[in-house]
Amino acid sequence: MEESAERQAGLTLDFLGDLRRTHNCGQLRAADTGARVLLMGWVHRRHDLGGVIFIHLRDREGITQAVFHEDVDPAIHQKAELLRSEYVVAMEGVVEKRTPETVNPNVETGEIEIVAEKLWILNVSKVPPFPLDDAVNVSEDARLKYRYVDLRRPKMQRNIILRSRISFAAREFLHSQGFLEIETPFMTRSTPEGARDYLVPCRVQPGSFYALPQSPQIFKQLLMVSGFEKYFQIVRCFRDEDLRADRQPEFTQIDLEMSFPQQDRVLEVVEPLVGRICAQAGFEIPTPFPRLTYAQAMRSYGSDKPDMRIPPFHCVEDLFAGSGLTTEGLPLVAIHIPGTGALSRKERDDLKPFGQERGLRIYDDVKRLDRDFPEAMAKLRQRVGLGEDDLLLVAGWLSAPAGHRPEETVLQACGQLRLHAAQKYNDRHKLLDPRCFRFLWVVDFPMFEWDEEEARWMAAHHPFTSVHDDDIEKLTADPARCRAKSYDLVLNGVELGSGSIRIHRQDVQSKVFAALGFSEEEARRRFGFLLEALEYGAPPHGGIALGLDRLVMILAGETSIRDVIPFPKTARGTDLMCDAPSPVPERQLKELGIRVTGGAK
Ligand code: ASP
Repeated sequence: MEESAERQAGLTLDFLGDLRRTHNCGQLRAADTGARVLLMGWVHRRHDLGGVIFIHLRDREGITQAVFHEDVDPAIHQKAELLRSEYVVAMEGVVEKRTPETVNPNVETGEIEIVAEKLWILNVSKVPPFPLDDAVNVSEDARLKYRYVDLRRPKMQRNIILRSRISFAAREFLHSQGFLEIETPFMTRSTPEGARDYLVPCRVQPGSFYALPQSPQIFKQLLMVSGFEKYFQIVRCFRDEDLRADRQPEFTQIDLEMSFPQQDRVLEVVEPLVGRICAQAGFEIPTPFPRLTYAQAMRSYGSDKPDMRIPPFHCVEDLFAGSGLTTEGLPLVAIHIPGTGALSRKERDDLKPFGQERGLRIYDDVKRLDRDFPEAMAKLRQRVGLGEDDLLLVAGWLSAPAGHRPEETVLQACGQLRLHAAQKYNDRHKLLDPRCFRFLWVVDFPMFEWDEEEARWMAAHHPFTSVHDDDIEKLTADPARCRAKSYDLVLNGVELGSGSIRIHRQDVQSKVFAALGFSEEEARRRFGFLLEALEYGAPPHGGIALGLDRLVMILAGETSIRDVIPFPKTARGTDLMCDAPSPVPERQLKELGIRVTGGAK
């Protein structure tokens, strides 16, 4: 039998008994000098200087130094000699002020130390798989495999604590605004957010499956039909999408829905909510947030989630009409980034292939443009406010793109070029300060997007989104130009949330299903219960869902959402700690009436 860690360490563990902490490890200050205290936590570090042993004791609130003197109490000093990293201990002693030269200004408790008089060893620990200092670079695989150890690192503790504070602040604010927190099922039927569902087989109805919700969309709408008026939930959503670095198969949304709102009412709830959330991380956010229509965002940033830390671009096809640089009906874009200084020939050349891959022709020789098009350039200089030290790129199209909204294809490519140029020079010019939060709303999204593969219009948001009052007539005649009553909350180039005013009338919902190419029968099969509910007095309603993981990530100053999720999955969807997903015993499959025919054995 393997020898117990305790025996290996040559010690007998103490019981917790009725020991009680008097303070936490982040609490004591010089003013507490002379106090008798009892702390508990983990041995973060041990310095053994022979006759004196220093222990850094850590709990979630901080680190406190304790000192064990051999000449004061040889027995307790001897016991302290047994301590190793991550042992769990309790200690009692007296707070002593440190001498000025031993004060540690980097730690909040750095003015004091505990002169330990009693020590209880409550548990031992194997040598941790990696050091717990934040400064130490550890492979992410190791961190995820030993997540429970990784989460002890002060940075991870800070992130998870911030997350908890943010959830609490959101709850508190929404309750104060009359929202009710109502749960919706996790085992349900397929929901229409556009991704694949995770399915759960039903043992008692072989061949039938529940779907894990991609969002509580339909249920929250039904709660409005039921008359609850204001609903929210901090809720896990599940989407089986191709994973990217910043995606997780399960993620959390702050989901809300209101009855009788215009779009403005929803935005007016979300702005102070986001303000409260940011305050938890110490940031004050100016409200109201600026608003751009989708069309404006595209024509100024080439993106429906513009990063406002970089200045907009300018459409200048009007200035260059007849110059040979423009293509009829398509934008010509001037990307202007002030203060980047003169770029080297090589830096400029690096941008060209990036543009070309996206079908753009880039004109970057300002002198030449000045010479060839003096009048247009004089106007352009004025329009963009071009300075000596600025970057100017004019981008046109190599050949007209296909599709239903070709101008968007051009603008999007220019938007990518603008971001690429900004990112490229960020090191030198600090355009993208992660602590600068530029929130905005993008509103009036297109109602439909063309799906090449399926050769049909798809809902750009989801099929329950209301069409813009002025565009109802275009529903069948001109779907490409139909705007939706939908809105996205965007921060620094990231979509943090999206929502809409919903369709509350059964006749309109049927029309939209028809525009989406759903037959009456299919619509009934998939969403019949919703259509039916709309026939029983559904109020006008609308809402939004905010991505909690990304919000916490940005506020914590992290670049990976995995660093703000306690137990995340890898980019391949694996939980390295519990080794999920995993095969299941044949017996379990049999019970479910499932036979696996493909995949790894
Ligand atoms: N259910 C939508 C989503 O998850 C949000 C909403 O429309 O409220 O994106």
